[in-house]
Order: sequence, then structure tokens, then C-alpha cells
Amino acid sequence: MLTCRGLVARLTDFSCGDLTLSQERESKRHLARCESCASYWRSYRTTVALERETYREPDAGWGEMPAELAGKILAAARSLGSLPWHLVHLLSGIAAGPLLAFYLR
Ligand SMILES: [Zn+2]
Repeated sequence: MLTCRGLVARLTDFSCGDLTLSQERESKRHLARCESCASYWRSYRTTVALERETYREPDAGWGEMPAELAGKILAAARSLGSLPWHLVHLLSGIAAGPLLAFYLR
């Protein structure tokens, strides 16, 4: 059974469509029965949408991020699943937002 922590750890992959079909179904089932995670998921999507809009401006500069740096930041963000939730939320809010905007625009 997927825990709340497990769901949050895979939200980036869920958002990008990088989960297996089984993982995606398990995540959707969790979101359907857990209001706390569903609320977090809604705020996550809203944040990504707002950041996409913000960094769509031509002189935002995110298009110049070196691929190697982006890869290292993504790897670090994925390893955050083992940290306490409050740190995961804090760090993901600071670091993952602009990175997601870069990749999802
Ligand atoms: Zn949950």
C-alpha cells in the first residue's frame, strides 16, 4: 500500500508521466482516498502552472541552464524522499519550482 510519504516522493515522476502503469494507478488510488495528499497535489499543480507562466517571459534565463547542472539538481531533488516531510516541502518549494518550470515549459 502506498503511503503518503511514498506518494510525495514520486510526485515529480507522476507529474511527468514517468511512472509505470501500476505505480500510476496506485498513486491515483491514493489521491482518491487521501484528502491531505490530494490537496498537496492540487497545490503542486497550481505551483507548476504559475511557474510555467512566470518563466515564459523571454528574459527569465532558465533556457540557459546547463544540462549537467539540471541533471544534478533533479537527482538531488529525487533523493529528498528520505528526509522529514517539512524539509522535503521546504526544499522542494525553493529548488524544484524553477527547475520544473524549466522542464515543463
Ligand atoms: Zn496521503
